[in-house]
Amino acid sequence: MNFITSRKEALNVLENYIEKDISNYATQRNFDFGPHNRKNISCLSPYLAHRLISEYEVLKKVLSKHPYQKVDKFIQEIFWRIYWKGWLELRPKVWTDFVEDIKNIENSNEYKKAINGETNIDCFNDWVKELKEYNYLHNHTRMWFASIWIFTLKLPWQKGAEFFLKELYDGDAASNTLSWRWVAGIQTKGKNYIAQNWNINKFTSNRYKDLKLNENPQPIIDRRDYKISPINIGNNETTSNILVFFENELDFQIFNIDSYKKIYCILLSNEERQIKLENKVLEYKKNLIKNQIQNSTLKIEFVEGNKFIELSSNEKNFDVIYPSIGENMSFLKRTMKKNNLIINYLTREEDKYCWKFSNKGYFNFKLNIPKILSQFKLN
Ligand SMILES: Cc1cc2nc3c(=O)[nH]c(=O)nc-3n(C[C@H](O)[C@H](O)[C@H](O)COP(=O)(O)OP(=O)(O)OC[C@H]3O[C@@H](n4cnc5c(N)ncnc54)[C@H](O)[C@@H]3O)c2cc1C
Repeated sequence: MNFITSRKEALNVLENYIEKDISNYATQRNFDFGPHNRKNISCLSPYLAHRLISEYEVLKKVLSKHPYQKVDKFIQEIFWRIYWKGWLELRPKVWTDFVEDIKNIENSNEYKKAINGETNIDCFNDWVKELKEYNYLHNHTRMWFASIWIFTLKLPWQKGAEFFLKELYDGDAASNTLSWRWVAGIQTKGKNYIAQNWNINKFTSNRYKDLKLNENPQPIIDRRDYKISPINIGNNETTSNILVFFENELDFQIFNIDSYKKIYCILLSNEERQIKLENKVLEYKKNLIKNQIQNSTLKIEFVEGNKFIELSSNEKNFDVIYPSIGENMSFLKRTMKKNNLIINYLTREEDKYCWKFSNKGYFNFKLNIPKILSQFKLN
């Protein structure tokens, strides 16, 4: 598996997938055939997580080639991503609590064994190695991994979610945190996901047998209740002559940004992050940014977070491409408070429209898919 770093190549991956492989998605997607055979899924997540290509662009391209009914499973998975993002936007405290929880959990010996792939569960150890080597895991494997982590190894879900964020090229605050909560049985209260021997056996084409797993666990209980809060996403009018964006919004061209005097792209270093990333992941992000900047006709300066802090001790007004709840947003909020900044957000119209439907469960969100597709002429 080789994840590329330019938008042009990412678009090629998408075009190829739409032409050749997407029609098998519904029947084959749950199989993990191993890192050298990934044609049954799209492997687009690292590009989507950095918005080198956007969810909406993917939807439009897929639906321009195939009727909805033929690709509905794939379309719904893209909408799962949008749904999770909206869900976290409406409940940002879920993210900040998760980050705080981590600070209060010690790294036990069992935890150290798990992240080094030294447990007595073969498949789990293999997945740890695979995650570190390819910085990616198949969706079904992420579900098994999280379930084994929580219910068989009895480790805190927060440390598992942190481990994924450190290692994944597609690490994403919403999809990752909420999926781990879902496996634990906190997201859908009382409904945990249980990894079972027969299921792993079947969907790994018999690579793993006789696994000793806890197949009868109780869901994790978390009594914290999260109320919906309004999203502060601005009206997209320019109020500053300086534009800032982060590495998770790399298709910046869709915004009208030609007239800014200065444009900065920020990649937070590990000193500026609450969850530290592996160097390989930071390198990957750096390469994505470099390619996007090189391929742009605009003059964009690539900076780390400390440069932005320095800048904002003089300049107080910034337009910022909305970075979504997560590490970048937390950094921005800290800096706003420290330096008394006035930030005006530029947000994709599609995001603004979709996120409000994440106020309840996915079933309810899904009912809005036809409306979303027609509102933005995606089908
Ligand atoms: C415990 C756990 C942690 C996860 N952490 C992340 C994460 O940090 N970042 C991330 O992008 N995804 C995460 N996912 C969701 C999903 O596993 C990945 O998006 C998917 O495996 C990426 O591979 P793909 O691009 O080949 O997906 P495909 O199966 O080809 O799907 C196409 C796209 O749809 C979206 N998608 C598919 N499945 C899901 C899903 N279950 N939830 C949300 N979006 C989905 C992704 O954007 C994906 O790129 C996690 C899932 C679990 C169970």
